[in-house]
Amino acid sequence: MKNENFKRTKGLATAVFRIPEPSIAGTASSADSPASLCVLCGDNQPDLVDVQRGYRIVECRKCGLVYLDPPPLPAFLVQSYQAYLPDDPDGVANWNRMMDGLYRSARRRLIARFPAGGRLLDVGCAYGGFLEMMKKAGWQVEGIEVAAAAAAACRRRELDVHAVALAEAQWPADRFDAVTLFYVLEHVPDPLGGLRKIYEAMKPGGLLIVRVPDTTPLAKFLKRIGRRNELYDPPYHLFDFSPAVLTRLIEQAGFRNVRMEIDAATRPRRIGPRLLSLTATMIGRALQWLTGGRFLLRGVSKTAVAEK
Ligand SMILES: [Zn+2]
Repeated sequence: MKNENFKRTKGLATAVFRIPEPSIAGTASSADSPASLCVLCGDNQPDLVDVQRGYRIVECRKCGLVYLDPPPLPAFLVQSYQAYLPDDPDGVANWNRMMDGLYRSARRRLIARFPAGGRLLDVGCAYGGFLEMMKKAGWQVEGIEVAAAAAAACRRRELDVHAVALAEAQWPADRFDAVTLFYVLEHVPDPLGGLRKIYEAMKPGGLLIVRVPDTTPLAKFLKRIGRRNELYDPPYHLFDFSPAVLTRLIEQAGFRNVRMEIDAATRPRRIGPRLLSLTATMIGRALQWLTGGRFLLRGVSKTAVAEK
């Protein structure tokens, strides 16, 4: 999803923003050193899925988690994100339009569960579109966003947003009724640690909403037919989660009643990706509905909903 934004960013800000080269990217180790451990199951014998922009993407043989190996250093990532969401009106409008369907869907969910309102944390809140929507609905809202320009844009609109990574953020226990992560978990260096931290910050009975891409089936297909692609958007997507892996990850962090849904479509700015997104989502939703919720079309982004 952020590929779309990445391409646009590249066009607007080439002078300040280049695709980092893995050789200078502060990777944790060299490419021929032993594979790093799977953060979900601890195995270290992954299969190679693809190499994109010089980064190796591997799949854990034991649990199926897909990850960049070796991972970029956290400090390098924070640096890389500074130009990821530039603070320009066009960027903000495009981003909010792309995410609008998902934001509305999450709003419906939160209002249905907490009719009297509540306190929301949006992790990786980008330009604050969802926070603004929920604030208008009477909620108390807070966000974190590692891209400093986007965080500043949020604060200008009087949103309580801190430019900090999930690993550095701190909240009192039992603070939030709901926590949302829209296309964020795949960017977090320690997704299990991050979800555990979120769990602690949530009230019992709180609702977690996690939206992630499901890139691997598409990447494998394109590789098989010999088409190069950069769908993992390295170094940004550190992980790719199948529905089974995401469910396991969320449960391992302590949450219960994990449900996976195709949910609403994103609306990328360019017509090609937009039609693809709308069509694939429509087919995915139809198949999920026809099978009583059992069949989840792979290759299409998913929303996980879980409870503390
Ligand atoms: Zn594993």
